[in-house]
Amino acid sequence: MAILSIIKFPDARLHTIAKAVKVVDERVRTIAQDMIETMYEANGVGLAATQVDIHERIVVVDVSDERNAAQVFINPEIIGQSIEKKEWEEGCLSVPEVYDIVTRPDRVRVRALNLDGEVFEIDCDELLAVCLQHEIDHLNGKVFVQHLSRLKQTRIKSKIKKQAQA
Ligand code: ZN
Repeated sequence: MAILSIIKFPDARLHTIAKAVKVVDERVRTIAQDMIETMYEANGVGLAATQVDIHERIVVVDVSDERNAAQVFINPEIIGQSIEKKEWEEGCLSVPEVYDIVTRPDRVRVRALNLDGEVFEIDCDELLAVCLQHEIDHLNGKVFVQHLSRLKQTRIKSKIKKQAQA
């Protein structure tokens, strides 16, 4: 197991579109385990492979309070979403110390492969729904701040520049 380093916005690699995993083998299981460890180490509720510079469609999440219920989604797809939307204050391990409100569908149905390569489907609401939409965005090269206004994005970029210089 290993802690991976997390790419920070506005690094261009965050805009890479991840490729589908062809075979769920030991290599993929090791990546997923390393991602889970990295997510816990960074105190995150979710992590997409894109964020650790691995451009394959792998997401890990843990929305439990106890931090002992990690879930792995390989090749996740949103196959249904509610018409109702919800506002949620989001943050991201790739955009430290930035939190802002994003509006997304309230509930989603997600289909993915598990670590045994088996297909499963899950209906999500609350934090899990937000988190999976946020992580699947990463696999599509999109960071949550891109849901915000241009003005806010510019402010966030200059804030991060200042953090880097500090
Ligand atoms: Zn993120």
